[in-house]
Amino acid sequence: MAQHFDYICLGAGSGGIASANRAAMRGAKVLLIEAKALGGTCVNVGCVPKKVMWYGAQVAEAMHLYAKDYGFDVAVNKFDWSKLVESREAYIKRIHGSYDRGLENNGVTLVRGYGRFVNNNTIEVNGEHYSADHILIATGGAPTIPNIPGAQYGIDSDGFFALNEQPKRVAVVGAGYIAVEVAGVLHALGSETHLFVRKHAPLRNFDPMLSEALMESMASNGPSLHTHSVPQSVVKNADNSLTLTLENGEQYEVDTLIWAIGRKPSTDKIDLEHTDVTLNDKGYVVVDAQQNTTAKGIYCVGDIIEGGVELTPVAVKAGRLLSERLFNGMTEAKMDYSLIPTVVFSHPAIGTMGLTEPEAIAQFGEANVKVYTSSFTSMYTAVTAHRQACKMKLICAGDNEKVVGIHGIGYGMDEILQGFGVAMKMGATKADFDAVVAIHPTGAEEFVTMR
Ligand code: NDP
Repeated sequence: MAQHFDYICLGAGSGGIASANRAAMRGAKVLLIEAKALGGTCVNVGCVPKKVMWYGAQVAEAMHLYAKDYGFDVAVNKFDWSKLVESREAYIKRIHGSYDRGLENNGVTLVRGYGRFVNNNTIEVNGEHYSADHILIATGGAPTIPNIPGAQYGIDSDGFFALNEQPKRVAVVGAGYIAVEVAGVLHALGSETHLFVRKHAPLRNFDPMLSEALMESMASNGPSLHTHSVPQSVVKNADNSLTLTLENGEQYEVDTLIWAIGRKPSTDKIDLEHTDVTLNDKGYVVVDAQQNTTAKGIYCVGDIIEGGVELTPVAVKAGRLLSERLFNGMTEAKMDYSLIPTVVFSHPAIGTMGLTEPEAIAQFGEANVKVYTSSFTSMYTAVTAHRQACKMKLICAGDNEKVVGIHGIGYGMDEILQGFGVAMKMGATKADFDAVVAIHPTGAEEFVTMR
């Protein structure tokens, strides 16, 4: 007979853990099922290890680019990639420990194994059956690789985090967050890095100022950017190096090739055909505004929902709100998917929220959109030979100049955005921004002093 719970969360990534803990805190009897490490993509092969590598890259840049002009005579004898990986993995182990303790303190039952649906309210794991009144699917996504000859010789972002040695020559293929972040880190840490994007720019769906400034930064000190470069095939050579051939006939020999061309939802192996859950043609789960799937009592959050936003804090918030609705009487609780701030940990960092300039013009009409910009050299780098640009933009709409878009690229932008996000979510206007006294000298002050 199946063991019965109030709530089963399938997948202990950011969304599943957050929802399970919150449900248990509200008194529900909760089962959490996970086949791999606690924390899912974010903690194990995503945000967390990426940010550690990015910090490593910041240390490298401080020593190689800036230390000299700050008066330090630094000699770097060696960079030990495996030491950085060791520190990173030890940190992740500590996070696993704190997740374990959190689940235990909240009374969440954790079962290790691969869960598959038996029917709309039953899941099978390791031969055991578990049933529940409510089941959350939070199985996340996985990287994709292209369908071209030799693609299997490349690795994906999971493979990047499994590298124990620093690759000397790397090709990174893709144009989104992961490609830009991984290429920037590898370059800063000293690998000869080539970034191949198939169109005219990386991050081409971001505000044009951001992708243009990023390309300028790459041109002055960054990975070699190859635009309009579509991979055709990969060949493994006798010395284990790889030859990447592009559709335009160009060839590049590298030691490691990293595919960063997007991700797919992990919904194909959990036997959803035994339920009434509807998937779209790409395998994403169809949900309504309250995370309900088409099957009664089955919900879904995270990277696998149709039309979702693939960001950890989005899954966390949606998961917690769902538990508040199911187990704390907040019947109207639902995730607000509008106006989500996000950062790309590029070199320098990008922060962005709301509409891009083209989107604002399309939505409000050119005459109703006012754009304010600022361009300056980050003070941190201004006293050195390696000056780095900061570019910021506010997009305002209507007579009251409501801020509908905020975008920045430059030193500190990763930490700057969050507070302005609060202001935007509250509906701040340009006048509200201007009413705040600037904090001087900072980069952030530009956002409240734009003319
Ligand atoms: P994205 O979907 O963001 O970007 C992948 C891009 O690669 C596509 O947009 C496309 O750009 C390009 N591409 C697609 N197919 C091919 C192909 N066959 N050959 C060459 N290029 C191709 O995926 P990512 O994997 O970078 O990231 C997934 C998601 O994870 C992101 O959307 C983001 O939400 C999240 N994430 C967030 C981070 C953060 O918050 N800092 C960090 C990392 C990931 P184009 O059409 O321009 O060629």
